[in-house]
Amino acid sequence: MEHESGERSPSTAGTSTTAWARVRARLRQEVGEAEYRSWLKQMSLAGREGDTLEITLPTRFLRDWVREHYGDRLRALCEAEMPGVRRVELRVAPAASAAGKAAREPVPALAERLSPEPAAPPAPAAEGPRGGDWMLPLDPRWTFESFVVGKPNEFAHACARRVAERPAQAGFNPLFLYGGVGLGKTHLMHAIAWALRARDPGLEVAYMSAEKFMYRFINALRTQNTMEFKSQLRSVHVLMVDDLQFLIGKDNTQEEFFHTFNALIDAGKQIVISADKAPNDLSGIEDRLRTRLSGGIVADIHATTYELRLAILEAKAAQAGVEVPPRVLELLARKIATNVRELEGALNRILAHAKLFGRPVTLEMATEALGDILRAHDKRVSIDDIQRKVAEHYNIRLTEMASARRSRAVARPRQVAMYLAKQLTSRSLPEIGKRFGNRDHTTVLHAVQRITALMQEDPAFAEDVTLLRKMLES
Ligand code: ADP
Ligand code: MG
Repeated sequence: MEHESGERSPSTAGTSTTAWARVRARLRQEVGEAEYRSWLKQMSLAGREGDTLEITLPTRFLRDWVREHYGDRLRALCEAEMPGVRRVELRVAPAASAAGKAAREPVPALAERLSPEPAAPPAPAAEGPRGGDWMLPLDPRWTFESFVVGKPNEFAHACARRVAERPAQAGFNPLFLYGGVGLGKTHLMHAIAWALRARDPGLEVAYMSAEKFMYRFINALRTQNTMEFKSQLRSVHVLMVDDLQFLIGKDNTQEEFFHTFNALIDAGKQIVISADKAPNDLSGIEDRLRTRLSGGIVADIHATTYELRLAILEAKAAQAGVEVPPRVLELLARKIATNVRELEGALNRILAHAKLFGRPVTLEMATEALGDILRAHDKRVSIDDIQRKVAEHYNIRLTEMASARRSRAVARPRQVAMYLAKQLTSRSLPEIGKRFGNRDHTTVLHAVQRITALMQEDPAFAEDVTLLRKMLES
C-alpha cells in the first residue's frame, strides 16, 4: 500500500494538488517534523464533493487520532487554502495489506522512528510493529531522553530504566508505577516501550489503558471470541496497562486481567502497571490481585518540587528553541505547582503567544498571556515567601530578616520586606513586627513610611520594589 500517497495527484476537479501540498506544509510547520511524520504524513487527498474535502488515512486508529487532535486545524487550513471547502471528511482508505486478517493497527510513531529514511517504503507486515492492535500509539515526545529526573521521580525513573534494560528480571516484575495525575507515569511507560523496541524491534510490547483492556474484553465476550483475546494477549513479551484504577470493580474483567497477569508473569514476561494509588490503597480490587500487583517493585512518583518544575521548564523551553528569560520560568515553576501537564500547558501558551504576535517572551508578556491561569493558581502570599524572596533578591541571609543587625546592607532589605508584608498580606503591624525578630509595630510603620518615601524619590529603587511585588503577587 502506498504510504507516500499524499504526494499522489488526485484527479479531482477544483482541488489543486498544490493547495493540498500547502496545507500539508503548513501543518508540518505548525506541529513540527516528528509529530507530522508520526501522524499526518500518511494523509492522502482522495477527492472533493462540493464543499466537502475527502481525506483518507490507512487505519481507523490513525483516522481517529488525526480527527481528534488535528481535525479543527486541518479543516481551517483547507478552508483557507481551497476556496469553497467547508468540511473535511476523514476516511479510512481500504487497506489492501490487511487481507483476511483482522486489521493490525500500525504504530506510526514507532514505525517512523525505526525507519532511517524519511521516505522509506512502508515496512512489510512481518517487520511491522509488534504488539498488534493492542498497541496504543507511542508518543514520540515521551522518551527517557526527554524525561527530566529530580528527587520526586528518581526512584520511579531508575526502576523504569532498569526494566527497559533488563525486562522480566526478578524483583522488578511487575513494575508498578503510581502517583497523582500529570506527574509522568504515562511518559515513563512510553519511554520503556521506546527503549525496548529500539533495542529489539522483534519484541511484542502491548501498551494499553485499562479502559481499552476492558473494552476489548467485553467485546470479546459479546462476540464469543474470548479464546482469541486470551491467546493474543498472552503472546506478548511485555504488557503495559496504564491507569489501572479504571479496572476497579468490574468483576469479570478483573478476573480475566488477573489470569492474564499470572500467565504472563509465570511465562517470564514483563508487566508494567500504572495507577493513581499504591496497590494497597486501590479500592475495589480483589486481594489476590492486590498481592500480585505488589509482588515486584512498587515505585511512586511524588508531587513535583520547585526545582524539578524549573528543570522541566528549562528543558522544554530549550527543546522548543525559544529564548525564555529565567524570570518567566521561575514564575511558572512557582505558581503552577499542581502537575507537569499544567506546567507544560502554561509554557506552551506563552510560546504560542510569542509566535503569534512575533514578540519576545518577557515577564510582562507572560503574565498577560497567562492571565486566567495564573489567577486560578493564585495563592495568598505569606510573610515567609516575602522574606525569602527579598533576601534572595538582595543577596542577604534569610536569618537577617529577624536579626538585630542594623547595618544598612541588611536593614534596607528588611524594611522592604516589612513594607511588602504590609502591602501583600492582611497581617497587622504588630503581627508583622513579630515575624521580623519580635520588632515593635512602630518599627514596621516606620519601615512602611520610609520605603514609600524612598520609592517616590528614587525611580530605580521604586522599580526594584515594584518588581519584587509583582513576582510575589504573580
Ligand atoms: P500521568 O500519566 O502521570 O498523568 P503524564 O505522563 O501524562 O502524566 O505526564 C503529563 C505531561 O507532563 C506529559 O506531557 C509529560 O511529558 C510531562 N512530564 C511529566 N513528568 C515529566 C518529567 N519528569 N520530565 C519531562 N516531562 C514530564
Ligand atoms: Mg497517564
